[in-house]
Amino acid sequence: MTTTPATTAPPALASRSRAVGASPVREILALTARPEVVSFAGGLPAPELFDAAAIAEAYARVLAEAPHRVLQYSTTEGDPALRGAVAARLTGRGLATSADDLLVTGGSQQGLTLIAAALLEPGDVVLVENPTYLAALQCFGFAGARVVPVPTDEDGVIPQALEELVLRERPKLLYLVPDFQNPTGRTLPAARREAVASVAARHGLWIAEDDPYGELRLEGDYQPWIAGLAPAADRTVLLGSFSKIMAPGLRLGWLRAPSAMLRACVIAKQAADLHTSTVDQAAAARYLADNDLDAHLARVRAAYRARRDALLAGLPAALPAGSSWNRPQGGMFVWVRLPEGRDATALLRTAIEHGVAYVPGTPFYAAAPETGTLRMSFTTHTPGEIAEGLTRLARALA
Ligand code: PMP
Repeated sequence: MTTTPATTAPPALASRSRAVGASPVREILALTARPEVVSFAGGLPAPELFDAAAIAEAYARVLAEAPHRVLQYSTTEGDPALRGAVAARLTGRGLATSADDLLVTGGSQQGLTLIAAALLEPGDVVLVENPTYLAALQCFGFAGARVVPVPTDEDGVIPQALEELVLRERPKLLYLVPDFQNPTGRTLPAARREAVASVAARHGLWIAEDDPYGELRLEGDYQPWIAGLAPAADRTVLLGSFSKIMAPGLRLGWLRAPSAMLRACVIAKQAADLHTSTVDQAAAARYLADNDLDAHLARVRAAYRARRDALLAGLPAALPAGSSWNRPQGGMFVWVRLPEGRDATALLRTAIEHGVAYVPGTPFYAAAPETGTLRMSFTTHTPGEIAEGLTRLARALA
């Protein structure tokens, strides 16, 4: 006689896993995979602009010249040459930085996780722009934070509304994407950066300044980093990334923070993954030493400018009367508002049936979504493909 041994179900997943739920980002990216779809959805850099041959050469060189070093474990803080190169770029743009102020991360996404680990207790309040970067909402949600949206207008967060919320909610952290924000493409003007820094200084607040897009400025002048403004210099963590300036598959970013916060992030990273890939960091440092990143960026910007302009030129004919949209000075995204009563999430199905995709705005809102909004990325396709995508969009929304 055989008996089936009694089994007991394993314990349930942590409540944070159940609370945060499936990632809408993954579902969005799945839409972009079908080759026949002209996708304005994914925030993907143009792959044909990757400097692939020079990156391959950099890997080959470090593996040939220093295999024992680049295949070995290394320090959590990161490759000194890579940190030195980032420090030099920041200093060159007016933000005095030494290699010791920096931690190399697995993309700026890991920087967000490290800040959350270093700073947040469950229940702590994090203020965010409304709308904001979806995966930041997920990251702070995973940390058990209570995420509170700050009202915004065409120029980003409204400083007065921010101050009122700081007094009411007593947040620990304000998360901002000041340059060419994801999803809106908006840039926070210099005067508002000063105002935000002043609020943080007067009321005691950390700022996470997430800047993966700043180097993709297509027109106008650089705005100052909040991290460089005196009132907020001791309480701002600046996050940067190689994803948009070299290639996102490298998964390389960096974090610049005041020393105690930096130390806490280093320890959090040690617990998470010991360090970012030694060989990837060494290859990136080699690439930066052997190539002119600014010349590469000039080519990328020229292509993106033409793509942004193609999208902006085609939108009036593609969108229903009464729609509005902005004109971003850089980055990757245009933010669209459909006429009253149109639901961008419901319309996405129709759009995909017509072979075109975008991202509905709703998931980017921490609260009170505007259901008629949507994000269009202009970087992935050529101007000709953008025109074709817009023809399909016009049919889908007609
Ligand atoms: N922050 C923002 C605002 C982003 O849009 C992204 C990527 N789309 C990231 C962080 C993460 O970038 P990465 O980890 O590739 O540096």
